Formats: sequence, structure tokens, C-alpha cells
Amino acid sequence: MIKSNNVFFCNTCVMSNQKVLPSVTIADDIEHTNKNTLEFESGKCSACIAVEKKYNNQINWKDREYDLNKILEKYRSSNDSYDCIVPGSGGKDSIFQAHILRKKYKMNPLTVTFSPHIYTDVGMKNFHNWSLYGDVPNFLFTPNGKIHGKLTQLAFKNILHPFQPFIMGQRHFASHMAKLFNIKLIFMGETQAEYGSQKDEFNRSDMLKRYWTKKKDQKIKVAGLTLDELKDHGISKNDLHYYLPQDVEEIEKNNIQILYLGHFERFRPQENYYLASRICDFQPNDMRTEQTFSKYNSIDDKIDPFHYYTGYVKFGYGRCSEEASKEIRNGYIDRDEGIALVKKYDHEFPKRYFNDFLKYIKIEENEFYDTLDKFRKENLWKDIGGERKYCKNWKLRHEIS
Ligand SMILES: [Zn+2]
Repeated sequence: MIKSNNVFFCNTCVMSNQKVLPSVTIADDIEHTNKNTLEFESGKCSACIAVEKKYNNQINWKDREYDLNKILEKYRSSNDSYDCIVPGSGGKDSIFQAHILRKKYKMNPLTVTFSPHIYTDVGMKNFHNWSLYGDVPNFLFTPNGKIHGKLTQLAFKNILHPFQPFIMGQRHFASHMAKLFNIKLIFMGETQAEYGSQKDEFNRSDMLKRYWTKKKDQKIKVAGLTLDELKDHGISKNDLHYYLPQDVEEIEKNNIQILYLGHFERFRPQENYYLASRICDFQPNDMRTEQTFSKYNSIDDKIDPFHYYTGYVKFGYGRCSEEASKEIRNGYIDRDEGIALVKKYDHEFPKRYFNDFLKYIKIEENEFYDTLDKFRKENLWKDIGGERKYCKNWKLRHEIS
């Protein structure tokens, strides 16, 4: 649960103590009763501590490679059937994962994609190039647009988390496919610990089952509503099938596990970009992504900027804080450069796809601002008056300096 009202920042990266950790999505509610915030040790956040280990010889990568080979030996296909799943959208990290598994570890990966809400042109091109040049097949699942649009609207209005239904689909679709194809291994990228996680996830190679399975009678909420409440909005359990996790008993019976390739192989964001460009002709965006400085991270969905912007409103840190912190941890920029970037970009309103977003979730511009303002916390935001358009009337009380 979010406890601290006092805002402070990590002394190594630029992340705020308000940063929320990955949650059990089916328990997401308005009060964030299932959310935890970043842990700190002597002023340093747990994400910085986790990433430091990658670079200061605390990890024996040869041993890790050996460990991975031991696991893969058990599951590697001898008859050309698929032996692992790489979920992704054809971004730089999923391209890297599938490539390493195929070429270095001689696996036969099936890639699976839960479609973005509205593809950007560059995202669609990169997605196609993944199978065209990347030597991997792909299954794309595209949810019913009417249902997905309604869920996104409800998640925006009820929990100011328009990306939540997509995150559920992205997280759970892979395990449905694993069961369907009788595949035991699913590979994600970097460990959650590298972005901040709870203590029991540190140094783990697998994703804890609470994040991607459910207990038999566990209560489920999607977009802040129970499955019965969703029926009143014309959304059935069948509509939600691929969004929802499977029972833990079912997953254990089928021996399906999610492993982090980043636990075994050292991920370096820019190197993944170069590799993706080389093997799949991966293209960065035609302009800088709004609210940050990069051009190649998470560029395939027109709704994506509103995931970061709503998070900024709720928790007081933006997309640039996330990306600059990652660059600092991986040694590409120093903290002063990170602070300068955050000051320049974190508050930027994402205008480019604003109308697409409003149209997608079927609300008027004023209702958009009303909803945002309902979720602004007094200890984070100050109304400075003036124009409401693009939230120009709000300023954070605590900014990094
Ligand atoms: Zn940090």
C-alpha cells in the first residue's frame, strides 16, 4: 500500500520514492491497496542496487549461462516443435530475446503478441519486420476493438490506468498460448527487480506466480470492476478470456514457467537497439517520444503516451524519470544529465496522439481533465491557475533538483 506522503528521490538515479512497483493486476483498485512503492537503502533505490550488480562483477555470467543451458537442455525440442515462447511486439528487447534464444541457445521460439490498442506506423512496420527478417514465427492476437476500447475507457475513468487491460492481456496471453501449444517455457526480458520490485523477487530467475496466475476462487477486478459489474457494460467472461490469468493449479499441472532472460544474459538497452536494427531493420520513431528524450522505447502504440501521462498525474513522476533512471543505471548518462532531462521533458503533455486517445475511449476533452484532476493528490500537485488545456494549470510541488 502507498504510505509515504513525503516525496524524495534516489541519490543515484532520478526516481522518486512514489514509484509504484509491479502489482497483481487482477487486484488493482482505486485505493491502490495492492500497490507497493520503491524500497531504498542508504538513499539508493532497489532498482539501482539491482542493476549495479550487473556491472560490478557481483554476477558470474558464465555460471548463469551454464544454469540457463541446464534448464534448456531439458526442454529443447528435438523434433522442430516450438520449445519456448517470447512475448513481445517486435520492439528492440523482444527481438534481442528471440534472437539470442534461437542463435546462441539453439531453441525454437514461438513469438506471440497481444496487439497494441492502435498501432503507430513505425510500430506496425517493426512488428512485420520481426517475422520477416528475424527468423521467428509469430501469433498476433487482436482483441475485439469495441470491447478493448470500452475496457480502456473504464480503466481510465475508474482507476486512471488506461493501460491496465492491455497489461493484463500482454502478461497473460503468453501463458494461454503456452498451454495451447504445450510449451513449458516463457521468456520475458529484464527482471522486475531492475525497475524496482518487492524483496522476495530479488535475484530470482522466474516471475513469481502471484503476478500471472490466480487461485481458484480469487476475486478478479478488471478496470476496477468485478466480472459481474463488467457484464452490465456488455463485457462477458468469454470476452476477457485472454486478458485473465489461468488457475495456478492448471499452470503447475502443465509445468509452465516464466523466466527472465535478463537474469541469465546481460541486457544493455542500447546494444539491443543496435542488434534489432541490424537483424530486423528495426526503425526508431520519426521524432522524439513526447514526455521523454528517446526515440526507440515503446513506440508501437498511440495510446502508450497516456499510460505514462496518467501515471505522472497519479504518482508525480513521468516517462522521462523512468527512462533517464534506466540510462543512469546502465551507465549511459550521469545523474546531472538525468536531472536536466527530467526538468526538460517530464511535464510535457503528449499532444501528438491526444485526439486519437479521446476518440478511442469515447470521451470529450473536458471529461479527460476532470478525470485526471479527480486523481491528483494534494501532497503532489498545486493548482497554479491559468489555462486548463494540456494541464498547464498544474505544477508538481516536489521536483528533483
Ligand atoms: Zn535509483
